Amino acid sequence: MEMDTIAAISTPMGEGAIGIVRVSGPDAFNIVNRLYQGKKPLIEVDSHTINYGHLIDPVSSDIIEEVMVSILKAPRTYTKEDMVEINCHGGLISVNKVLQLVLNEGARLAEPGEFTKRAFLNGRIDLSQAEGVMDLIRAKTDRAMNVAINQVEGKLSKRVQTLRQALLETVAHVEVNIDYPEYDAEEMTLEVLQEKASYVSSEIDRLLQTAHQGKILREGLSTVIIGRPNVGKSSLLNNLVHENKAIVTDIPGTTRDVIEEYVNVRGVPLRLLDTAGIRQTEDIVERLGVERSRKVVNDAELVLLVLNYNEELTTADEELFQLSEGRDTIIIVNKTDLPEKIDMKRIQSLAGSRPIVTTSLLKDEGVDELEEAIRHLFFAGDLETGDMSYVSNSRHIALLTQAKKTIEEALGAVEAGMPIDMVQIDITKAWELLGEVIGESVSESLIDQLFSQFCLGK
Ligand code: GDP
Ligand code: ZN
Repeated sequence: MEMDTIAAISTPMGEGAIGIVRVSGPDAFNIVNRLYQGKKPLIEVDSHTINYGHLIDPVSSDIIEEVMVSILKAPRTYTKEDMVEINCHGGLISVNKVLQLVLNEGARLAEPGEFTKRAFLNGRIDLSQAEGVMDLIRAKTDRAMNVAINQVEGKLSKRVQTLRQALLETVAHVEVNIDYPEYDAEEMTLEVLQEKASYVSSEIDRLLQTAHQGKILREGLSTVIIGRPNVGKSSLLNNLVHENKAIVTDIPGTTRDVIEEYVNVRGVPLRLLDTAGIRQTEDIVERLGVERSRKVVNDAELVLLVLNYNEELTTADEELFQLSEGRDTIIIVNKTDLPEKIDMKRIQSLAGSRPIVTTSLLKDEGVDELEEAIRHLFFAGDLETGDMSYVSNSRHIALLTQAKKTIEEALGAVEAGMPIDMVQIDITKAWELLGEVIGESVSESLIDQLFSQFCLGK
């Protein structure tokens, strides 16, 4: 495939001490060289060096920028193509000027994710690694970042490849048996097949067991705070936001009013739903009515139900218990600095197995216990990100689930005494499904769609 030369601003837009314009493709050196004035022409400098100089407007011969230019010769580069990185002064105007010069000289403006897409198309990384790059950019907690880094480094890819290899061996074994029936006893082939397929199936299971946590790490845990007016919902929200690093992200392709707020609670990224609404009106039930509140609660993965220690339980409180039935819920009995008026025994019986935490948000008491309860609810048993490859991406989860199902069908067919070449079809199908995780046999349109979710300049 003949590639053209692409360019984009790689540093975040806005203020910043330096800005970087990245150029990649067969013409990268020539394009930048025509704009550059330094000790030596760029086409004569060594690869992987950084060179001080100036960018000159080729029409007016004016000096445009003072720059440091990195020259990176293929294939040891991010895209596996010739690459140039122009470090210039930060700030919108100067970076954009540099980009414009490069585009005028014949580079094309890169699409979002196109650098990473080239790394994938040129075989430097596989698809799950590329998806890891995207997750890395968006990671909201250190743990989420570790998961993404593992994926970029290819930990998930390696595990998937090992499993594919095992399936391939099974298929090869069956193949031999079909071609040379006298070579191997059919019985033994079946045994090998069952053993290998069961192994792969249980390994996929182990991967899928990480999916729940992986997905939370990657996407955040949608959280809603409910409670009657004045129980302390806003105080709780403020406490969580101030004690922890709040991360505000805007989701690409959406308008500003759906900006989401994340807080990192002991490694659990909470995505606070509808926080603006809570701030404004204090009471979602009152504001939305019971039916719509039910929907908000049902959409949440974590419900924080706040009660007032200093007041008797009301029917409205009891309704909230019902509303959150069956959801992961933490009951927070707030205002313990005031005299006990609520019936704690009754709360315990209403809560059932849902954890109860008592707090005085006014005095900042009980918040540690609350945070621990949140962590425990989702990461009971410690979460190791060191060696584990988490499956965190919905696309991967779907493919792994399908692959496992297909293998199980194959095993069922063996049990039922189906002909072995029928079984082989399922095993081959599972092998293909696993291949899609790392980007083998995925369609071009899917690839385009995945990469278009990237930021510009990556
Ligand atoms: P919301 O209506 O549920 O959002 O409740 P707020 O967070 O706005 O709190 C209502 C009032 O209760 C405010 O005056 C808070 O200062 C007060 N408050 C919140 N938490 C506590 C607490 O733990 N103890 C006491 N005594 N007052 C609290
Ligand atoms: Zn409030």
